[in-house]
Amino acid sequence: MPSVEIIAVGSELLTPERVDTNSLWLTAQLNELGFEVTAKSIIGDHRDRLTQAYRQALASADIVISTGGLGPTEDDVTRDCAAEALGVRLEHWESLWEDLKAKFARMGRPIPENNRRQALVLQGGESLANPNGTAPGQWFAREGRALILLPGPPRELKPMFSHHVMERLRPLAGSNVLVRRTLKVYGLGESAMDELLAPLYPQHPEVTVTTLFTPLDLEVHLLASGTTSELGLQKVTPFEQAVREVLGVYVYGESLQSLAEVVGQQLLAAGKTLVTAESITGGLVAQRVTEVAGSSRYFLGSFVTYSEEMKHRLLGVPEGMLAQYSAVSAPVAEAMAAGARDRSGADYALALTGYAGPDGGTEEDPVGTVYLGLAGPDVVKSKRVKFPGDRELVRSRCAQAALDWLRRSLLT
Ligand code: ATP
Ligand code: MG
Repeated sequence: MPSVEIIAVGSELLTPERVDTNSLWLTAQLNELGFEVTAKSIIGDHRDRLTQAYRQALASADIVISTGGLGPTEDDVTRDCAAEALGVRLEHWESLWEDLKAKFARMGRPIPENNRRQALVLQGGESLANPNGTAPGQWFAREGRALILLPGPPRELKPMFSHHVMERLRPLAGSNVLVRRTLKVYGLGESAMDELLAPLYPQHPEVTVTTLFTPLDLEVHLLASGTTSELGLQKVTPFEQAVREVLGVYVYGESLQSLAEVVGQQLLAAGKTLVTAESITGGLVAQRVTEVAGSSRYFLGSFVTYSEEMKHRLLGVPEGMLAQYSAVSAPVAEAMAAGARDRSGADYALALTGYAGPDGGTEEDPVGTVYLGLAGPDVVKSKRVKFPGDRELVRSRCAQAALDWLRRSLLT
């Protein structure tokens, strides 16, 4: 599989304000075409550094794709550095200069002399039209290798890649395509999952496995190549099945699915409705549920009951119970869920009460302790969970835990 290296050019991409998203988009396109991206880098607008980066990339990858720095100003050094790294001259293309002049005329503006730079093309290279901006792209191929210069703005880069680069790259692609599957997992720690998966790796040497950890859940990425996507799938599918078998109920979905989306599908399939009673999360579970389009078909609403009085008045949690057990307790979580279910008429109610910190908590129930309540057609139950992390993480994690608890309860 031919290798590609991506170089994102621009000093602004080295500041916290701007993120290099071009390389992510390009990587997805390139994988689809059957190229492997072996390296990428971000280089500021420095001539020496950029020339050196092109030289190194051209020496190690089959194809080098550069984005940005094709503008008309002194600090747009991409063309110069590419020419120097390749050892070719830049040639003035009168036809490009005419195009640029016409573009400016249509905008009713005089063309600055600076823009002549944008009519310079690598000797032996081709120019790529840019209908969405002034900077043309460039394609330079030599001895089976290619250097491609694309503009920085994503709305210029994407159509240029799709319309002009893809067709030129296709003949250089190996006969392979990459097939990717992603499984979403909740409730396992990093090492616990690794222990379960490790024995599978030697049985499927043709599949590359990557595990990713987010603060909320885990992802297992499976990647295989084949001469057709069917052949790639033939490698990935048995591995995916083995992973599903080993991880069992911990796997909740695939690709871009969120936990709230999966729970929504379960509720929809069962024809059931949900309500939430939220103290510690202040409506976060409701937010995740309603992020999903169509959630009005199964989600009725949320009681955000932060104070004891609201727990009593809105949900009917007995005052005596609040006094006896405190608001963060199993009986109160159950009473919140039961009250929310009764008063809304929903089939299921999820309740959350806990200590998010940084202050509060008790000796038995320190900061991070949460009681979840679940009321359904024939059960009211609660469970105590404990999360590490700061206030934001504790709240976010317990919202996720509540959704997963409902997911598992709906499985049986
Ligand atoms: P221009 O003619 O607009 O100057 P250019 O090819 O010189 O085009 P840059 O000046 O490098 O492009 O970038 C212009 C803008 O495009 C940046 O301010 C940034 O917003 C966006 N951009 C550049 N590179 C990237 C990147 N790698 N990922 C995402 N956005 C980018
Ligand atoms: Mg620029």
